[in-house]
Amino acid sequence: MKNIIEKYNVPGPRYTSYPTVPFWKSPVLNVSDWLKTISHNSSVFQTNGMSLYIHLPYCESLCTFCGCHKRITKNHAVEEPYIDAVIKEWELYKKEFNFTPDIKELHFGGGTPTFFAPDELIRLVKAIFNSNSIDPEHAELSFEAHPNNTSQEHLEKLHTFGFRRLSLGIQDYSPTVQQAINRIQPFEEVKKVHELAKNTGYKSISHDLVFGLPKQKMEDIIDTVTKTLELRPDRIALYSYAHVPWIKGNGQRGYDESDLPQDSEKRALYEKAKAMLEAEGYIEIGMDHFALEHDDLAIAFKNKNLHRNFMGYTTQNTNFLLGLGMSAISDSWFGFAQNEKKTEEYMKIVNKGIIPIFRGHILSEIDLEIRRYILDLMCHFETEFNTESKNIKLHSDIKNRLKEMVKDELVIINGNKVSITEKGIPFVRNCCMAFDQDLADSLERKNMFSKTI
Ligand code: SF4
Repeated sequence: MKNIIEKYNVPGPRYTSYPTVPFWKSPVLNVSDWLKTISHNSSVFQTNGMSLYIHLPYCESLCTFCGCHKRITKNHAVEEPYIDAVIKEWELYKKEFNFTPDIKELHFGGGTPTFFAPDELIRLVKAIFNSNSIDPEHAELSFEAHPNNTSQEHLEKLHTFGFRRLSLGIQDYSPTVQQAINRIQPFEEVKKVHELAKNTGYKSISHDLVFGLPKQKMEDIIDTVTKTLELRPDRIALYSYAHVPWIKGNGQRGYDESDLPQDSEKRALYEKAKAMLEAEGYIEIGMDHFALEHDDLAIAFKNKNLHRNFMGYTTQNTNFLLGLGMSAISDSWFGFAQNEKKTEEYMKIVNKGIIPIFRGHILSEIDLEIRRYILDLMCHFETEFNTESKNIKLHSDIKNRLKEMVKDELVIINGNKVSITEKGIPFVRNCCMAFDQDLADSLERKNMFSKTI
């Protein structure tokens, strides 16, 4: 296994979209072209509903491992004008829709959503839904909660509105690792928030862990998973630390490359955590997620309804994800668009009454075909070539690129069907890379992506 890991541990995308962001072909996407991709599919959105992602970018302090779009401040006066801008952005979109938006899923991500006062968050959702509460059977509402600043009031007010799911950012419980990443949060604090959420009535609590962090050792991952199992969250995300200092600058340069577990040493951390979680009844879902059997994510995985978009894995497959807020990415199935990444600039553009996208991509026929294959692989570890496709050469090119993985018993090709073997699951991103025509056409992948393992 050691040699195989070294062989396949190359820079590669995480495939929350295809084409991946560095290969979008419209650096400046025209707003009306973007809106056309939405109206083009409006009858589907009218029937299936839509998903909303809202990016809330502020954090009180910088975690040095962080790859998110965020603004660090302790000044809470920023909350009100930012929420006003997001509401305004939503109003701009509503004027353009030629269908009645039926929101099936809403997620607050960040940044730190719980940086915002509970009443500001409630003001936002009331304006979005135009209602004082939402039936949790109709729409799945969730938020990312920072254990250090999530209050009982946050939990209660959001629960009363209709939120039933939250994810707690944990990373690792080792004080040495926490110091290296500048994120000090003792287990007792996390336990307190977890139990408060449980007692308030949240039905799905997720813990986000990270492997491959600076100074993280095998005993740290064992201790972190042992403590996590004590609380038994419904879902666990076990993300690979993405070391991309050329993108994220100084924050990730606060420690040395030699502080990072590499290749097989890094993978061993994941394998250990996986074995511990599976022994306690967790099911591995797609790439880097686990869930207990009763959780909707595990049910969707079993029933092959799992979907993946810019929010990660999701049980709602609406085909339309609208991202609001600075840097948020939207996906209308036929197009992608990303909002302005500087917070003040984002607010300025929205306040002028303009939809604040700054880049995007309109999917071609071949993009749509490849996107389907990659989505299947990321969600179900298998896919089947479309025999009615006009792109038959694409199929033979992909099969050629998969030869090495077939030889290494990571992938099986049977006629038009491509399946990832048990041994091949850690290399799902590598398998998707064989389907990625943009990557095949590109010679410059070194400094675009983090490594696959
Ligand atoms: S990890 Fe979360 S809390 Fe820390 S800086 Fe990044 S977005 Fe903010």
